[in-house]
Amino acid sequence: MENKIRYNSANNFFREKFGQKVIKISLDGGFTCPNRDGTLSYGGCIFCSEKGSGDFAGDRNLDIEEQFKISKEKIKTKWKDGKYIAYFQAFTNTYAPLHYLESLFIKASNIEGVVGIFIATRPDCITEDIAKFLSKLNEKIYVCIELGFQTSKEESIKLINRCYDNVIFENCVKMLNKYNIDIIVHTILGLPYETKEDMLNTIKYVSSFNIQGIKLQLLHIIKDTPLHKLYIKKPFNVLSLEEYVDIVVSCIGILPPDIVIHRLTGDGDKNTLIEPKWSLNKKLVLNSINKALFNKDIYQGKYL
Ligand code: SF4
Repeated sequence: MENKIRYNSANNFFREKFGQKVIKISLDGGFTCPNRDGTLSYGGCIFCSEKGSGDFAGDRNLDIEEQFKISKEKIKTKWKDGKYIAYFQAFTNTYAPLHYLESLFIKASNIEGVVGIFIATRPDCITEDIAKFLSKLNEKIYVCIELGFQTSKEESIKLINRCYDNVIFENCVKMLNKYNIDIIVHTILGLPYETKEDMLNTIKYVSSFNIQGIKLQLLHIIKDTPLHKLYIKKPFNVLSLEEYVDIVVSCIGILPPDIVIHRLTGDGDKNTLIEPKWSLNKKLVLNSINKALFNKDIYQGKYL
């Protein structure tokens, strides 16, 4: 089997859905997070960066049209007259009153060239009213919710200070299914003290629900986060490239073929990334994954 069809990639999905490659423009909607503002905790998830895991988003002091324009300008030599996804990535992008969300997302949907809106959030921050509104917006423009889940293992949920139970995730997925809104689930591979089996259990768990996409994110230790402090105090195993590739390839083998894989590694910022440094060479990581899939003859869903 050729490498290009060994997994259901985001590029293929976008090409099929929009008839061409699309590019994600990361926008900052000015949100915070209940896990950082004291509602649930002040510390946040232990891996979360100062910018709410949205390190490549626009400047939150500008309105989103301006942010979009600036990002578009930066890529104009490589990307002429393309189509775009407005990506709300930083912090919890449904953690605000409904009228604020309505005005923000409708504004994003009206930007010329935008064909989809991707909203990263927590499953405990989507009410039925928000889901109803998003479902209506979904009739006009493609809407996708990205749920930060990371792991299904109880001990890890406590360790990373996620501050919601798996049952909240399950209820949220069911509600979004009811409103026909596509879901991408974020998982993290390489959390402290997790075994390969734990990580595969997370993949099996999330893919047992009606989800449309998944992100396999390598754990990044970012400077000055609680995770960084833990790493200094009580160092834990950081995955090597070889270990990571082995785990990702096994995850691909057990993922149902219809789930789109939107991420296979992660984009680290070289100024703040403590470990693993090898992940900065994204091309090497992706090539190694593709090579291992080919050499081991693994493709998405092979082990189902
Ligand atoms: S829920 Fe998201 S934004 Fe909030 S602390 Fe966790 S990773 Fe950061």
